[in-house]
Amino acid sequence: MESIQYNLPQNRIPLAWYNIVADLPKPMAPVLHPGTLQPIGPEDLAPLFPMSLIQQEVSREREIEIPGPVRQVYAQWRPAPLFRARRLEKALDTPAKIYYKYEGVSPAGSHKPNTAVPQAYYNKIEGTKRLSTETGAGQWGSSLAMACAFFGIECKVYMVRVSYDQKPYRRALMEAYGASVTSSPSIETESGRAILAEHPDTNGSLGIAISEAVEVAAKDPNTKYALGSVLNHVLLHQTVIGLETIEQMALAGDEPDVILACAGGGSNFAGLAMPYLGRKLKGQSQARVVAVEPSACPSLTKGHFAYDFGDTAHLTPLMRMHTLGSTFIPPGIHAGGLRYHGMAPLVSHVMDLGLVEATTVQQLDAFAAGIQFARAEGIIPAPEANHAVAAAIREALQAKEEGKERTILFVLSGHGHFDMQSYIAYQAGKLENYEYPAEEIAMALAGLPSVS
Ligand SMILES: *Cc1c(COP(=O)(O)O)cnc(C)c1O
Repeated sequence: MESIQYNLPQNRIPLAWYNIVADLPKPMAPVLHPGTLQPIGPEDLAPLFPMSLIQQEVSREREIEIPGPVRQVYAQWRPAPLFRARRLEKALDTPAKIYYKYEGVSPAGSHKPNTAVPQAYYNKIEGTKRLSTETGAGQWGSSLAMACAFFGIECKVYMVRVSYDQKPYRRALMEAYGASVTSSPSIETESGRAILAEHPDTNGSLGIAISEAVEVAAKDPNTKYALGSVLNHVLLHQTVIGLETIEQMALAGDEPDVILACAGGGSNFAGLAMPYLGRKLKGQSQARVVAVEPSACPSLTKGHFAYDFGDTAHLTPLMRMHTLGSTFIPPGIHAGGLRYHGMAPLVSHVMDLGLVEATTVQQLDAFAAGIQFARAEGIIPAPEANHAVAAAIREALQAKEEGKERTILFVLSGHGHFDMQSYIAYQAGKLENYEYPAEEIAMALAGLPSVS
């Protein structure tokens, strides 16, 4: 029988996360205070995050130990399986080998619990009573709601309006875990009221929902803020994905030629890519590493690498990243988790160093790929993950055209069980591609803060 699954025993869950910052050939640009434009210190972040996460945010240690209670929770679904997509390979009639690391096996159905669990854990031990956060499609909100339930913390979620309307079951899941969920923009916050006054019919965006969640945490000493992507500590926690995959690819006796992941804020991409980039920097891997973005929100491929705010209301520090402008409100694509104006500074930095590439996929191609994947592999991917699937299929077909072997590895970041409304709309022919929103992006980029 041909192998399709490469499993590790539970005691192979990594003992430490991998921090690529220790190995970077050039340091990242500092994060700046929005008022003084000077580099911020830990105390500037203390109202929002517990100190252990702030330390991880600025750490240069190569390995950061995963606390026992976090590994214990990870053990429910980790090590996550690595599959060889043999039936998809046959369907494509390609000489390429296709492997995928499946993160949909977590209880919330995506990679997000990899960071939700440690974030809730560190908040708990530092005395936080409540966490506020934003969510796009609801994957992050449900992951944090679950982690908060495990550690006995309240959870308040601002859910982007278009997703709140498109994905009622995600909201129901968050509420089942005990979280309180509000459609964003809301009238509960100053930032929300300001947006509503200007754009009453807005779809909302992650940038707006972040403003609301940050505002709530900044105003309440018992509430801290949690972010599901973008920040260094989030990307760090996700490296369990790549660390496990390296061992699993060794079991398979293969080395990837190309590594792919969808990129919204960049966390599942970084989770797979950073441990491989660590190998690449040591000359142990030659793989091309590619981030896959939606054409409607292409921060890495079309954005500027510049200092910008992480949110729409400009409450966050300034980070140097690939950005479409913090006031850009992306089209209402169904891959809600990819509707973010910026890209993680760490991912932006390795892109700037030429260590990774980026490509785009249109919404209809993403769904077509998801359907093809489901028919071959049985798993119905989340709309975000469809972007990675589409890019993997593109690579496999290119290998076929060139008559060359190629080993393709991608992260299937989550399943689409809560996104079936999007598939219904797709099958009914109601989804559309969005042209690159050039005018709105030009306007948003014109408003970038000036930092010398
Ligand atoms: C949130 C999410 C994404 C996008 O976020 P990243 O930080 O870029 O990984 C992708 N896929 C799924 C399933 C998600 O839930």
